Amino acid sequence: MPAPYPDYHTHTSLCGHAVGSPREYVQEARRIGLSAIGVADHFPLLPEPDPSISMDVCDLTGYVDEVLALKHRYPGYVFLGIEADYRPHTLQDVKSLLASYPFDYVIGSVHHLGAWGIDDERQIDEYASRDIDDVWIDYLELVGDAAESGIYTILGHLDLAKKFGYRPSGRLGSETDRLVERIARTGVLVEINTAGLHKPVGEAYPALDILRRLCDAEVRITFGSDAHRPSEVGRDFDHAARLARGAGYSHFASLDPHADGSRAQIKLNPFLSDR
Ligand code: ZN
Ligand code: FE
Ligand code: FE
Ligand code: ZN
Repeated sequence: MPAPYPDYHTHTSLCGHAVGSPREYVQEARRIGLSAIGVADHFPLLPEPDPSISMDVCDLTGYVDEVLALKHRYPGYVFLGIEADYRPHTLQDVKSLLASYPFDYVIGSVHHLGAWGIDDERQIDEYASRDIDDVWIDYLELVGDAAESGIYTILGHLDLAKKFGYRPSGRLGSETDRLVERIARTGVLVEINTAGLHKPVGEAYPALDILRRLCDAEVRITFGSDAHRPSEVGRDFDHAARLARGAGYSHFASLDPHADGSRAQIKLNPFLSDR
């Protein structure tokens, strides 16, 4: 039985590359004993939605209503989230569209450097034509910008650029420290995203050395499986908890229900002693 952690990062069939309905995700979370479940499908990619990447603008209301109905049925257990891309040129449009819906939280993710989808298998060849450290410098800068945009509750898969195994050289320590400082100043949460364990890189996001720096800077962490099918809910969370504790964390953050339609409050919970 997995420990009772929350999973705030799950996708549904609406995004065009996942399977399962919000109801199936909630059922699976209850079945395996998670403490809470957040549905956070891909917010429409602006300005031009791509049906293989994210939901369409016209599906948003239906999505929100479906999750709200589950939230009503399982109060305090189900949360209405969304994963919204951070792309500088669409920030204002994303911000105003987000404001039309009562999301409990928003996951901020950088999946693009300009037009290049860095985690898209169909565009993997682009790595061969780039300087990998330059990719990382641009990527880390955008993640810092996302943190400072103020529209996100949680930063998603913080070091996603490693997905296919393209790691930065050892020279990027100061860029990493600078990102951690920027994140710490904003108070945004960082998820331990276990999907990376099942990608070519074979490890969770973020890597242990980044987690150590985040812990030193008192950045709060939470959990996300990035499930793209219901059976992946809560996957490898025992591993994630060990990673967090190995990095020095004694507590993890969870969302607290609220009544007034604003974003959820954040609560800290102690890790239980080793089981
Ligand atoms: Zn996805
Ligand atoms: Fe993502
Ligand atoms: Fe995701
Ligand atoms: Zn993701």
